[in-house]
Amino acid sequence: MDTAPHPLTGQARRLAEVLLAPHAQRVDQEGVPLSHIDALRGSGLLGTSAPTAYGGAGAPDAVAREVQEILAGACCSTWFVQTQHHTPVRLLARSDSPARDSLLGPLATGALMAGIAYAHVRAFPRVLVRATPQGRGWRFDGAVPWYTGWGLNDVMLLAGISDEAEVVFAFADARDRPGLEASPPMRLAALSASRTVSLTLDGLWLPDASVVLRAPQETWARHDAARGANASPAVFGVAYAALRLLEQASDTGTGGRALRARLDEVRRRAYALAEHPEPEEHVAERLSLRTQAYHLMRTATTAAVVAGGGRTMGLDHAAQRLAREGLFLLIQGQTAQARSAHLRSLTAAVDQLRWPPLEDSV
Ligand SMILES: Cc1cc2nc3c(=O)[nH]c(=O)nc-3n(C[C@H](O)[C@H](O)[C@H](O)COP(=O)(O)OP(=O)(O)OC[C@H]3O[C@@H](n4cnc5c(N)ncnc54)[C@H](O)[C@@H]3O)c2cc1C
Repeated sequence: MDTAPHPLTGQARRLAEVLLAPHAQRVDQEGVPLSHIDALRGSGLLGTSAPTAYGGAGAPDAVAREVQEILAGACCSTWFVQTQHHTPVRLLARSDSPARDSLLGPLATGALMAGIAYAHVRAFPRVLVRATPQGRGWRFDGAVPWYTGWGLNDVMLLAGISDEAEVVFAFADARDRPGLEASPPMRLAALSASRTVSLTLDGLWLPDASVVLRAPQETWARHDAARGANASPAVFGVAYAALRLLEQASDTGTGGRALRARLDEVRRRAYALAEHPEPEEHVAERLSLRTQAYHLMRTATTAAVVAGGGRTMGLDHAAQRLAREGLFLLIQGQTAQARSAHLRSLTAAVDQLRWPPLEDSV
């Protein structure tokens, strides 16, 4: 962890050590409690990247990445619920929509917390949510397959696609209302605790004033693919948490140290590229580092299970939780491009497997 000390990274560490890590196994089984969200709201961390003029910290991206790493390594479910919030905040900060003045302040201070409902627009030309102009606003119809933080957050950033192949992003209250209905929370292999639901939209009407972005789908997809090429700080957070478990086991020898050194190097390179001023450059290298981070995370979480033995299968053991959380991170924020790069790399890894030499006695 190599960024200059910042008060928010100290705050994140305190929250991680005192609250998130000690309760992570219970939260994984029972769900993220409102008290965790309240602690986040009061911590200032929800305003990490928000402009100071609106009550945020305006912290550099390097600090934001480190905060996300710390939270993800302590309790991935709580991390995931809060990480949704930062995209709407960043989008509002760049927008000239009236929603900026009504929402950016409360989102920056944590008075409001936001979720997102937009991964489905990546499926274009399949349209899962249609946005249609109606009066002085837009109506949204269709199905949002995934929405995290239902009942925990207050507002959602919802996206649909218009007949003119434009993406339309608008804010809505995150609660059942005419035109918006949530499923029961999903039972999942990991992150069930994140209160993830699907949403049915049947003529949900939102005023023009709540719209924060309209852009040709093609333009948006290009930016999204560029952003999605970078390695996620959460992957490093979970990998380091697994390494700490591994290092507590007595007989891991130099393997744990070698893994940590490799992880440090991939992280350093991935974050250097994340700082590059041209986000659409070096895409192949970004994807390669993203994929390497996945491989190292899976190795670290698997090694923590192997080193811990049978006990790790208990639901009260951190190793199995980290392994399941790592599984989830493999598909979180997945774009078509990231998906292909990861699959290619997995196939290449299989190609490198060699049969052991046969021993005479066999
Ligand atoms: C627990 C959980 C919570 C989530 N919460 C949220 C949330 O709060 N908000 C939100 O917006 N999203 C959320 N997601 C969605 C998550 O980010 C997506 O799962 C991820 O982006 C993968 O997309 P998908 O599963 O929806 O689409 P998929 O259909 O699996 O597609 C993933 C990507 O690969 C491409 N693709 C699919 N099949 C092929 C193929 N055969 N060839 C080439 N490309 C292909 C798609 O176009 C897409 O870009 C959540 C997911 C999970 C599992």
